[in-house]
Amino acid sequence: MANLLEVNNLSVYYGVIQALKGISFHVDQGEIVALIGANGAGKTTTLHTLSGLIKADSGSIRYKGKELTKIPNHKIVSLGMAQVPEGRRVFAEMTVLQNLKMGAYTRNDKAEFESTLEMIYKRFPRLEERKNQLSGTLSGGEQQMLAMGRALMSHPDIILMDEPSMGLSPIFVNEIFNIIEDVNKDGVTVLLVEQNAKKALSIANRAYVLETGSIVKEGRGIDLLNDEEIKKAYLG
Ligand code: ATP
Repeated sequence: MANLLEVNNLSVYYGVIQALKGISFHVDQGEIVALIGANGAGKTTTLHTLSGLIKADSGSIRYKGKELTKIPNHKIVSLGMAQVPEGRRVFAEMTVLQNLKMGAYTRNDKAEFESTLEMIYKRFPRLEERKNQLSGTLSGGEQQMLAMGRALMSHPDIILMDEPSMGLSPIFVNEIFNIIEDVNKDGVTVLLVEQNAKKALSIANRAYVLETGSIVKEGRGIDLLNDEEIKKAYLG
């Protein structure tokens, strides 16, 4: 399958601290790719650089053949790349429906909006049941669903997910990972950043291991799950 996203030699500094030390990886159309690593390894920095929130100091990010490092971040969503941020970041004082509407801001066709909303409600029945509820009163797992639903409202080709399992009970973690797999089966490519390496590797086609700003290992999800070093360092 064709490369949807290709990152080459990407470096990012925060002042004098180098958070990404020339990393290279790629995501093919239709894949689930996981980026795993400990606290502070540079996972969030990687996602924020892809979406243009942080500026790369050097290296390239090619997405559908375009150089993203030269494109302002507000244009990146309309190229089909959507973020599901860490800690969900739903708009707490808005209802579920209002949050979903925010996700559709790159689209202004009313009929298309309605059909997309219907599709999201089918995927997340809980969101439909709670469409008029204030988002800040949702449980953590429901907020994660809302953040995913909001990202999907823009009809992305790829979603960048930052730690979807964070702070969720095991039941919700399983539910969220099942949903990620279903969304992927519907044709959405997924780049998944996770500290929960076991869960991430179990659904990922391929994965990269990030350690203090460098990629130290890559392979198929299933192979990394059975890798002795990975087991010792990340799978407890
Ligand atoms: P976590 O899972 O804890 O979010 P991470 O793998 O996502 O970790 P990053 O948040 O990308 O890691 O951080 C990578 C490194 O960059 C860390 O050493 C962190 O302290 C540093 N860092 C992140 N943001 C900033 C910032 N705004 N200013 C200075 N240093 C930063």
